Amino acid sequence: MTDHDVIIIGAGFGGMGAAISLRRLGYDDLLIVEREDDLGGTWHVNHYPGLAVDIASVTYSYSFEPNPHWKNWFARGPELKRYAEHVADKYDLRRHMVFGVSAEGARWDEDEQHWVVTTTPVSGPGQGVSTVRTARFLMTATGFLSQPKLPDIEGVDDFTGTVIHTAKWDDTVDLDGKRIAVIGTGATAVQLIPQIAKRASELTVFQRTPIWVTPKNDFRIPRPVQSLFARAPWTQRAARAVNGAWLEGMMVTAVLHYKQAKFLNNGAAALAKAHLRRQVNDPETRRKLTPDYSFGCKRPTFSNDYYPTFNKPHVTLETTPIAKITPTGIVTTDGTETPIDVLVLATGFNLWDTNFPAFEIIGRSGLDLGKSWRTSGYHAFEGVSVPGFPNFISLNSPYSYSGLSYFMTIEVQMRHLERLFSELGDQGATTFEVTAKADAEFLEHMLERMGDTVFLQGSCSTARSYYYTNEGDAVLLRPTSSASARRAVEAFPLEDYTFA
Ligand code: NAP
Repeated sequence: MTDHDVIIIGAGFGGMGAAISLRRLGYDDLLIVEREDDLGGTWHVNHYPGLAVDIASVTYSYSFEPNPHWKNWFARGPELKRYAEHVADKYDLRRHMVFGVSAEGARWDEDEQHWVVTTTPVSGPGQGVSTVRTARFLMTATGFLSQPKLPDIEGVDDFTGTVIHTAKWDDTVDLDGKRIAVIGTGATAVQLIPQIAKRASELTVFQRTPIWVTPKNDFRIPRPVQSLFARAPWTQRAARAVNGAWLEGMMVTAVLHYKQAKFLNNGAAALAKAHLRRQVNDPETRRKLTPDYSFGCKRPTFSNDYYPTFNKPHVTLETTPIAKITPTGIVTTDGTETPIDVLVLATGFNLWDTNFPAFEIIGRSGLDLGKSWRTSGYHAFEGVSVPGFPNFISLNSPYSYSGLSYFMTIEVQMRHLERLFSELGDQGATTFEVTAKADAEFLEHMLERMGDTVFLQGSCSTARSYYYTNEGDAVLLRPTSSASARRAVEAFPLEDYTFA
């Protein structure tokens, strides 16, 4: 007897999707453990100024739970948080959730044939006191952009002004009239910088690697269109299909088939360069903002107000490397010190040191998932399961992300769960485990497909992309179209798993 049927770690869209599938399958004894103090994952944690999604919301949502009332084509952060809350309420998921509790480790108990999960409250009563809970099945939905990365710059701890990481934004910090520095120019910084520039007296952006930015075709969705989406849901499904096909086309041609269709990838780079030329006046600033790596090596982004920010007289783009941070400012390697009041770290997330997996997971015979991925290579059958780890589904696995909208990945994974658990029930079995053969064949297929992608064929060495591991392998994205991932999830033979 276990404490729960299933323990899910993470109450973001991935964890909630898994819970919805399990509920459809008849599992009701679920425990969803969430480190933060509320649900929503990324959309709960992030609340920096300018936060929005850069995938159109008709697509960035569950297909079975459309929201006809998105206010903008690209929803703002708070709307996505409200959508997450709506899903949790509608599918009655809140009663399964515990908040402010961190998963510290999980171990497969071979004798008892169940998972033993150690959790610790991070706040409130019982803070720091670990509890052990058991479950027949373990699912991790911990996200991959979830462990904020602090820059390893000398003196960063000595700064005496205000320091904020974008993933730990403090809404009470006064930015008005302050001298502000932003370190980082990833997708987060691109959204944040135009907003901060409106409030700072001086803003210095420290850029190490420029990002490709294309125009953002955003607009308010008129009320009559919202009403149409509500009254005739097929219209919103049609908008989703068209947008999904466009995203798919971009992903497939510009990223996955770079070898065959480099001209399309170059076309995207030309579009971004034209955008830059139109929007930034100073040629030297334009040069600094122009990436020297192929489009798609690292995640590009969309914005209409990022580039023009650099025309403002109180905004400086600094590309001389940072030497150190002092108690009062930032010193670059040419010896220049920029005095600041507020230091904003838009330095992203640590995927390859403190994630994959997000906590220690020990399978059969003491096999450590994180160590084995790092010593024997990253692999996961269909991006969800690993031999040696029975009754375990890892939703944030190598080769799990297909398509540009995370919801494409989530829904394929939900279908995987539904086929797998239905078969488990039909066989009257209590455990499943993917076979080593199926896992090895899937990996071989992924490596073969990776050969055509921009990650291997493009000029990516200067991109510093988190798509690559510390060893330089591009294992994050599934190098197939999401249409192909959807076909695969319907077609994988159930014999790829052993049931007992
Ligand atoms: P990121 O893409 O990893 O960017 C981090 C930035 O910090 C990079 O410019 C990086 O420079 C810089 N940096 C890190 N350490 C540094 C150091 N020691 N010194 C100088 N610079 C340093 O992180 P992010 O911008 O938070 O975005 C992460 C992901 O979140 C995005 O790619 C996207 O998937 C997601 N996101 C999505 C949306 C959306 O609208 N859907 C919005 C925001 C974010 P280097 O490039 O040189 O390493």
